Amino acid sequence: MGQKTCARRLLMEIAEFRTGLHSWLDAHESELAPTFSPPGTLDEQIAQMQRVKSILYDADWMKYGWPERVAGLGGSPLLRTELGASLAARGLADPGLFSLIEVLAPTLIDFASPELAAEVVPRLLSGAELWCQGFSEPSTGSDLAGLTCRADPDGEASTASTWIINGQKVWTSLAQYSDRCVLLTRTGTTDSRHRGITAFFVDMDTPGITVAPIEMINGMHEFAEVFFDDVVVPAERMLGDLHGGWGVAMSILPYERSSCFWQRIAYLYRRLEMLVEVAPADDRAARVIGDAYAQLHSVRARSRATQHRLAEGATLGAETSIDKVLVATAEQTTYDAVRRLLPGVVEMDDTAIGQAWRTEYLYSGAATIYGGTAEVQRNIIARRLLDLGADE
Ligand SMILES: Cc1cc2nc3c(=O)[nH]c(=O)nc-3n(C[C@H](O)[C@H](O)[C@H](O)COP(=O)(O)OP(=O)(O)OC[C@H]3O[C@@H](n4cnc5c(N)ncnc54)[C@H](O)[C@@H]3O)c2cc1C
Repeated sequence: MGQKTCARRLLMEIAEFRTGLHSWLDAHESELAPTFSPPGTLDEQIAQMQRVKSILYDADWMKYGWPERVAGLGGSPLLRTELGASLAARGLADPGLFSLIEVLAPTLIDFASPELAAEVVPRLLSGAELWCQGFSEPSTGSDLAGLTCRADPDGEASTASTWIINGQKVWTSLAQYSDRCVLLTRTGTTDSRHRGITAFFVDMDTPGITVAPIEMINGMHEFAEVFFDDVVVPAERMLGDLHGGWGVAMSILPYERSSCFWQRIAYLYRRLEMLVEVAPADDRAARVIGDAYAQLHSVRARSRATQHRLAEGATLGAETSIDKVLVATAEQTTYDAVRRLLPGVVEMDDTAIGQAWRTEYLYSGAATIYGGTAEVQRNIIARRLLDLGADE
């Protein structure tokens, strides 16, 4: 089949899915709507997301775009991206929380044993469980390859039935709510850097794990420090090969930089439309909103192209750093527009609407940090795409 025919079929598949999904969402609007005034507490946001996942799973919508070996219904992964974006655009689930599925489920599908993936992925999709991503450490965020949280075999590495984990992670989103963690550990010497890292899938109720939530500037406790003291993990929980953890970590990038961004962009459009409804009708407001809209629109076009390249089997690489910079800039421009056009609302308005703007405005500062900082992305663009000097 020609490339154009494939692309046309894919677009038709997505359009058909979208039509069915939206008429179903319209019919179930009252059942799915949050039972609190946004932003709500993090507890409320998470309960809402898990409830929505459970209803959508029972109605099969959460199964499209996932392979049959994890009880999915198959089809293009773009279908699940469409679902996430639709939920974000309707305010039914926070895109940042919801898109953790995209970061973690593909890792289990690609690197866990088929039995383990078949057991646990449906639990994540159906809202029965939450998982977290234990990568960053106090001295290794951007420089992830320098991580030091150790996993040591109980005996010879090749025959060990268990591994013992010791060390610390930090900024682990939703660790205190999570049932499991995709954890990167050091199994070789620190000199080996990329080659001496191994990934494990760890149950968060294993003895020896301590979670200490951290308060963010917006008052939420979204992430946490996680301490591991002689935590025993069965060898079957190793994801991928021994010392092959860097490949596991890198495999997350294409999903993080495509579907997750698409969901975030859908949500930002929704918020910009809400701003348009209450902003003054003057030239200055038109310019400020126009600027935010132009940025959102460009990153949307860029992100769509990235997703289609991924769906066609392309390997995503350094060029997704452009998507990351664009989406973070668009997010910050959107919330700056709120602050500029609704004077005092972000700073002082304690109504539910004011609190929602404030919470999100403050959170937007993190957009240039999580998932790779803006400075590091710009270095990648300069060095690897524009050939402006070698990597250090
Ligand atoms: C809201 C939020 C949620 C997060 N969730 C998770 C999670 O669930 N799991 C997880 O593992 N991590 C998570 N993180 C951590 C995130 O991945 C790191 O914060 C990020 O990678 C940056 O690492 P760092 O904080 O150690 O900063 P550092 O790497 O120490 O960077 C500090 C500053 O130095 C700059 N810098 C560093 N290296 C260079 C360089 N080579 N050239 C130029 N400038 C440089 C950076 O741009 C930054 O401004 C989250 C972070 C946030 C904000």
